[in-house]
Formats: sequence, C-alpha cells, structure tokens
Amino acid sequence: MHTERRSVDALVIGAGAGGLCAAARLAHQGYRTLVVERLDRVGGRASTYDVDGFKVNNGAIVLELGGIMEQTFAEVGAPYDVRMPKPPLMYRIGGKSVDITGGGWGFLLSKLTRHGAKLVTGLGAARHDSGLPEDQLSLADWVSSYTSNETVHGVFRNMCASVFAVGSEELPARVFLTYFARRSAFKKFGFCPEGTVGAMSALADVVALHGGEVWLGSTVRELRTDNGQVIGAVVERDDASIEVDCRFAVSNIGPAATTSLCPELPSAYRDEVREKSRPCAMITVNFASERALLEAPGLTSFGRTRRLCYVANFTATCPEMAPPGWHLYAGAGVPKPSVGQFDADAETELIMADLRDEVPGFETARVLSVAVMRDEWPPQRAVSGFDLPSETPMPNLWNVGDAVKEYGNGGTTACAETAKLVVRRISERYPAAA
Ligand SMILES: Cc1cc2nc3c(=O)[nH]c(=O)nc-3n(C[C@H](O)[C@H](O)[C@H](O)COP(=O)(O)OP(=O)(O)OC[C@H]3O[C@@H](n4cnc5c(N)ncnc54)[C@H](O)[C@@H]3O)c2cc1C
Repeated sequence: MHTERRSVDALVIGAGAGGLCAAARLAHQGYRTLVVERLDRVGGRASTYDVDGFKVNNGAIVLELGGIMEQTFAEVGAPYDVRMPKPPLMYRIGGKSVDITGGGWGFLLSKLTRHGAKLVTGLGAARHDSGLPEDQLSLADWVSSYTSNETVHGVFRNMCASVFAVGSEELPARVFLTYFARRSAFKKFGFCPEGTVGAMSALADVVALHGGEVWLGSTVRELRTDNGQVIGAVVERDDASIEVDCRFAVSNIGPAATTSLCPELPSAYRDEVREKSRPCAMITVNFASERALLEAPGLTSFGRTRRLCYVANFTATCPEMAPPGWHLYAGAGVPKPSVGQFDADAETELIMADLRDEVPGFETARVLSVAVMRDEWPPQRAVSGFDLPSETPMPNLWNVGDAVKEYGNGGTTACAETAKLVVRRISERYPAAA
C-alpha cells in the first residue's frame, strides 16, 4: 500500500443526506471540500439500488416539499426533482379510503371518535410551551388521556412510526406534539423519479461543480489530531492509504462511529455517546405487480394494523421507477420493541400479514426485497428527543445527520437542518478564504 497526501478545507465523512447537505453548502460557500464515502454510491440511508429494472429505495422513500431540504437545494442551486402525489397521504380505515387533504387531523379524528374535537384542541395547545406535556409522558399515554378508541390509537401509532420510526409507546408525546404543532411536519412531500438517490446525486454534483470531490468506495480509517483539534484523516482508497489534511471535519457517520475514529476524544464524551445512542428499527417490504393494487397515488396509512404503518405507491407519480407496465410499492412497519432486541422473522411475518389484509392482490405480487433496518443501518440513529449535540469536544469536529437532530424533528429533513446549523457555525469560526 502506498501513501499519498492531500489538503482540503472541509473533510466530510460519509455521503448520507446530512453529509451531502453540509458538503454542498460548504462547497457552494467556497470551501475546498472532500466527501469520503465508503460505499459505491451516494445517499447512505437515502439511496436507491436496482432490482431487475425496479428502483428500490434502501431507506428514505419520500422527501419533504417546502421545508429545509428543498430550501437547501435552492440555496446551493441544485435541481429538486421531487414529485408530489395528489393527495400525498390517505388513510385506509374500516375498508374505506379517507382523504384528509384540507381538513387534516381534525377531519380524520372527528370521524373516528366523539372525543376528536378535544384531541384536536390538545394538538393545537402544543403551539404554546404551557400546552406541552412533561418529557416522561409517552405519545400512547397522551392519546389515552383523551380516548381509548383503538383506531385512534392506531392512527397515532402509525403516524409516529412513519415519521419517527418508533411506536407511540416509545416516543415522548412532547416530541410528537412539537413536531406537528411547530415544524413543517411533512405536510407536503413527494417521490424522486430516479429513486431518492436522484436527489442525493444532485447534491454531490454541486460539490463537484464548485471544485470539490466525492470519493466513493473510500473509507476514513482514522482522524488525526493535534493539540485537541482535528488536523486530518487517514483514508483508504483503492489500494492506497491517503493522508488528508483539513481545517475542519464534519462527520455524517453518527457520534458512536466518530468516536471510534478518534481515540483522543475525551472519555466523558465517549461515555455520553455510548449511553445515548439509541438506534431504532424498521422493516420494509418492496413489492411490484403488473396490475395496480392501490388506488391512492402517494402514501396510504392505516388505523388498526399489527405493524404496517404505510404503503407507498411510487409508480402512480413516478412510472420511471419500474419497467413499463409494472407498479412499484413499499410497505413498512416498526417492530415491537423498535429499540433493542426483537424477533426479525416474527415481526416481518406480522407486516406480511398486514399487507395481505390491507392490499387486495398482495399474494400475487412479486416481492423484490425485505429489508430489516437496525443497528448500524437504522431508520433513525437516535430516537427523536434523545439526540446528541452536533458539537463535539473538539472545536473543529462536528456531527451531522439523524443522531444529532434538533428537538422534535425527524428523517432527512432533520439531517438537512443539522447541516445548515453546522455550516453556519463553521463559517463563523473558520471563514472561507476570500
Ligand atoms: C426504511 C427507512 C425508511 C425511511 N423513510 C424516510 C422517509 O421516507 N423520509 C425521510 O426523510 N427519512 C426517512 N428515513 C430516514 C432517513 O433515511 C435517515 O434519517 C437519513 O437518510 C439518515 O442520513 P444521515 O445523514 O444521518 O446519514 P447516513 O445515511 O447514515 O449516511 C452516512 C454515510 O456514511 C458512510 N460511512 C460510514 N462510515 C464511514 C467511514 N468510516 N468512511 C466513509 N464513509 C462512511 C455510510 O456508508 C453512509 O453512506 C427512513 C429510513 C429508513 C431506514
């Protein structure tokens, strides 16, 4: 193995949603930026692979419209090719499809329970600090304080699972209410015609356009430090070991993996990272059919299911995602418990049973893949509300991504937000050369 040497301003470890949003912003602001990605494609858990001509997402399936992700693309000048199904979300309850566009939660809840109005008032009260419950109350307990209606509980559980990838017993009500009352809350979203990797590739293109580089199939093995700061990294690329010098580093691999690259991080911080790392889990079934199996063009969510929280219908909006004449779908659910150990086979079978019940004709569909996402490849590296800070004890080392989300946020939107905040701090502390 031979050794080379490179020098950049910004070293970004990992080309996931958070890393690419940060890298595109940094390159756009004039920082010499290098992104190092261990896999052979960009996007991390927001990427796409090909199965016999089907574009199958490996994680994120929808991107938000009108939120901070779209704003990031606009600011760096990248095309945001995200198509919104109309309506984006429908509920299937008691065998009927309910379109909640316009009426929102109030409409849905008022149809389900006579206590619906009180629940909607409770949701609205969360706009003020005094209307937020204390941290210990789970979302399931909060809903129980209004109603025992099982369909209402199912609606909340499935919404919670869809956005936060945990069950409603595992998420503080305060997080959920903050998200719905104060954040953009995925009210509008859509699919990428090339699969989610299409959007992520557009961010990687911005890095290249501004003279930066994205190295695929390359792994950061070690961070080099001096005097309490990162000064560079050792990168393994092809058969070479490359010494990369940098002014600062942004890690997209989660604080736990970052600490393992950097033994010099203080033990108190390492302990905190170990204690607070709480990856959750999700199971996705990707399937296809030559005849249409669902009417709703976007996401369909449910009232009472065993585990299934949504089914996505990609090809009604993005026919490019499947070979001609085929329809592409994905059904997902979170296991019980979604944090810690669970029986993957039994939990997958519960989702399959739900798909057979909820999607007429599912038995005849072609199952393209079943993916159990957990541990090192989770739907969220930290359960929302239990995130670590993006700052580290080293002044020029930051984390971005879904382990360091701002309170009450989730998914790729949260990753884009971490990137925006971190890049702002970088530009204050280490201004780009004129
Ligand atoms: C099934 C599922 C469904 C989801 N649905 C949605 C959705 O519809 N919408 C939504 O917004 N979010 C969704 N999410 C959540 C979303 O996918 C994640 O929050 C987001 O993609 C996480 O991105 P990240 O920036 O934290 O980094 P990651 O995606 O984890 O990227 C980190 C990257 O670092 C690379 N890496 C690791 N170690 C090294 C190293 N030493 N050197 C170099 N590279 C390294 C990895 O290969 C990876 O590419 C879903 C997730 C799952 C799993």
